[in-house]
Amino acid sequence: MAPAPIYESGVPWNPERPDTVIISCVDGRWRSQIQDFTLNYLKTDLHADFLAVPGGIEPLTLFDLVPKDFNFFRRRLEGLIEAHGTKRIVAIAHQDCAWYKQHTRFPFKLDLRERQVADLKRVASRLHEAFPDLAIETYFARLAGKADERVVFELV
Ligand SMILES: [Zn+2]
Repeated sequence: MAPAPIYESGVPWNPERPDTVIISCVDGRWRSQIQDFTLNYLKTDLHADFLAVPGGIEPLTLFDLVPKDFNFFRRRLEGLIEAHGTKRIVAIAHQDCAWYKQHTRFPFKLDLRERQVADLKRVASRLHEAFPDLAIETYFARLAGKADERVVFELV
């Protein structure tokens, strides 16, 4: 017998499969703005599937360098798309990403934003090849405003 619940969510269950998967970093500082972007710009509800690992799409760039990480991510994304009938993949990278800061594989100092944008573009073309029927969208979130108090999203 199932144990007595300790909490009942007031949010009603929706059994319908969302047609969008959002791939982002796990960094919680950006989550509220990503949810706002999801709702008000992407026009998908908060019900969209959400695939988050540190660094977001970064494992999908590791085909040659760290095939283990690449395959882990790819297998799960493929499984999700197949099972859920996904029609749209949205990848969002963000400024000041700790994973990108920690995993600089280059001997020279490459601008992090440039590298993340290049990664988003590489991954988008790989995803286009792998899933020709799916819409692929990529965005970069960064701070804005006089005191970096706001978050804006750029199309990549
Ligand atoms: Zn991050």
